[in-house]
Amino acid sequence: MILPKSTRLTSEQLAEVTAIVTEFGCKIQPIIGAVRSIYAIVGDERDELMINRLEGLEYVERIDRIQSPFKLMDRRSDLATHRIKVAGVTLGTELFVIAGNCTIDPKTPNFFYETAAAVKEAGANMIRGGVWKPRTNPYSFQGDVKSLDILMEGSRRTGLPVDTEVMEEAHIKLALDAGVTCLQVGARNALNYSLLRAIGRAVAEHHATVVLLKRSIHMGPINEFISAAEYIAAFGNPNVILCPRGTTPTLEGYRNHPDESITPLLKEKTWAPVIVDPSHSVGKASYVPACALAAVAYGADGLCIEAHVNPSHGIGDDPKQALTPEVLATTIRQAKALWVLRRGA
Ligand code: PEP
Ligand code: MN
Repeated sequence: MILPKSTRLTSEQLAEVTAIVTEFGCKIQPIIGAVRSIYAIVGDERDELMINRLEGLEYVERIDRIQSPFKLMDRRSDLATHRIKVAGVTLGTELFVIAGNCTIDPKTPNFFYETAAAVKEAGANMIRGGVWKPRTNPYSFQGDVKSLDILMEGSRRTGLPVDTEVMEEAHIKLALDAGVTCLQVGARNALNYSLLRAIGRAVAEHHATVVLLKRSIHMGPINEFISAAEYIAAFGNPNVILCPRGTTPTLEGYRNHPDESITPLLKEKTWAPVIVDPSHSVGKASYVPACALAAVAYGADGLCIEAHVNPSHGIGDDPKQALTPEVLATTIRQAKALWVLRRGA
């Protein structure tokens, strides 16, 4: 990782460092921050001669060599000072809440519009709505591109940004062109490296876009989760948020094995913000508020919660796990209070 003395390298300086690392079979990946940029050396960066030549450049402050499988997302990385700002909130400075329908029903758009207004009223910062859905049963509703217009109309009506899951390359472009702020990588795709790369490439120049990376259903080691985030950040946009959402094997009565307790461990290893999804974790509306509060107690920076104005008439997961606006409002109020209590503010 190259840290320049100034806030960023000039194009001549960039060309010079690129020429040096190319001689050693490496590439340079600029990571453009709001305040300063840093330059990742992609490849085997251990060659002493290469490092010496880079360190000898008068515009280079220093070269950092982190031996980590996720050198950008590592807590010791120079990116650790990077802050993700979304919907006017710098993550980590207040509890950030994403809420809305699991799945937008294109036949009843008013449910989504009413939910969007209700979650805003309840204190959410961003609205979620599934357009394309990864379903376990191939005969279940798979989503509908028509819902993308409904999602964006909900955003216009409330003035809040939106989050939706993308499952293939075509979805990424459609979502970005429509103005989606947060691209969600679902638990089933969290280890789909070609999708992660495609997202990384697509958002590299979209500095206001963020990615909510769910933890895979079958994900084992924590390093695997953070490395998945590294896949996206490696293309130049480091706005990746980690989202524990429960893993298998499950406990009886729970949809997944709740994993909000990995939050402190994540925070020890990475600077990435953590937004916990209690809805998919426990999978039952009556258990969601407690799981949400537990996540905040464990140090989560935010929550992603499914909510619906009329859960039993929703589709996808909403009949079983969506909170009503009233319960959502109470949960957000309590979670925000707990967040403040925990930070000692
Ligand atoms: C969802 O957010 O509706 C969803 C399908 O989530 P996950 O990928 O965590 O199952
Ligand atoms: Mn869902």
